[in-house]
Amino acid sequence: MFVSKSTGKITLVTGPMFSGKTLEILRLVDQLEYSNKEYVIFKPSIDSSEDEFIIKSRWNHSKKANKFSGEDDIERYLLNNPNTYAVIIDEIQFMDKSIIKYLDRLCFRGINIIIGGLDRDYSGKPFDTTSFAASIADEVRKLHSICHVCGDAAFLSQKFYQNRAVTKDSKQIELKNDVLYKPVCRKHFKYDEN
Ligand SMILES: [Zn+2]
Repeated sequence: MFVSKSTGKITLVTGPMFSGKTLEILRLVDQLEYSNKEYVIFKPSIDSSEDEFIIKSRWNHSKKANKFSGEDDIERYLLNNPNTYAVIIDEIQFMDKSIIKYLDRLCFRGINIIIGGLDRDYSGKPFDTTSFAASIADEVRKLHSICHVCGDAAFLSQKFYQNRAVTKDSKQIELKNDVLYKPVCRKHFKYDEN
């Protein structure tokens, strides 16, 4: 016998740096608030690139986020908050891809999932975890930025160290203040051909 049960939906918001992923996620969060749905935002605890307990767009919209390091943290939250309608995770590329299998199961349990993540690293290599997320998502919103050279749509993020494009891993110690990322189109993306 088939039993119909309500399940959630998985939405992935992806693209290069500066494409407005977090802004799009915050827009979806706004919609949840308008419809009085309970939600929680998580951020990987290894992402120390910005303020620890918020997700923030470059336009300065922000929301409180919970640090997490794996599914146990999410389960613990859901146990204490059984009416949670949506689980939102930003910066998914920092997590191991095993988290995606868990989020898929969570969706079958009726929880809506919104995932944000970078699709490729600065050398153009896809992030495994985001690729996995794209495979199981019901909806993928792929955003783009604007190429800093020509103004065309940019789907890549170029890393610069001391104003020179970095095209592959190097052993040099990079001083954080000398590292810069800029959005680029394919034509203006410098890469290592080996
Ligand atoms: Zn360009």
